[in-house]
Amino acid sequence: MNKPYLVVDLEATCDQHHGIPRQETEIIEIGAVLVDRETLEPQGEFQTFVRPVIHPQITEFCTELTSITQDNVDGAPRFAQAMAELSQWLPRPVTMASWGAYDHNQFRTEARRRRVTLPWGNDHFNIKEAFAKRFGRRMGVSGALRRVGLTFDGRAHRGIDDARNIVRLLPHALGVAQAPSRGDAHTDTRGRSRRRRERRY
Ligand code: AMP
Ligand code: MG
Repeated sequence: MNKPYLVVDLEATCDQHHGIPRQETEIIEIGAVLVDRETLEPQGEFQTFVRPVIHPQITEFCTELTSITQDNVDGAPRFAQAMAELSQWLPRPVTMASWGAYDHNQFRTEARRRRVTLPWGNDHFNIKEAFAKRFGRRMGVSGALRRVGLTFDGRAHRGIDDARNIVRLLPHALGVAQAPSRGDAHTDTRGRSRRRRERRY
């Protein structure tokens, strides 16, 4: 079955020096891109801010990191409602895919806490690990983009922008990336080494 990927990236409440204990952090943004499993082309996007309840105030640190403000979350749905909206938008079933295990684990923790059923169940694909297997080591999203000759588009640490950039890494993680054409906007001064690397696939 051609089960699509749902590439998801979340932002969560945070503070400097672990001011908010990990188990009390809550999702404040869900960014998701639906990707066709065969073509790896984006089919649609979902984005929502989420209103945190345990620590309802967004810290200055968190706004600086993510650009997400108190205003953004004050009018936003709570987690259960946000997930209901996501589920309604989603054609099921999907494989949830994210950069690392963090997003998957955070969704599981909050779903348990709020008695919400995750639309992807336990079906998770760790893109970071797949990428690491091909490129020899684990990297952050920006580092991985650089490794394949790309640069981050948009605002890092914003769920929807992170998700869009992770989608661009998916063909590289799966080993099906095309060598860039001559007209590729990303074929800059790094183009040669990028082509050389991609021939190894
Ligand atoms: P990311 O997807 O990399 O933007 O990270 C997701 C969430 O992890 C952020 O919304 C923060 O809650 C937390 N986080 C990421 N980087 C940091 C950091 N340097 N310090 C504290 N929390 C962070
Ligand atoms: Mg993010």
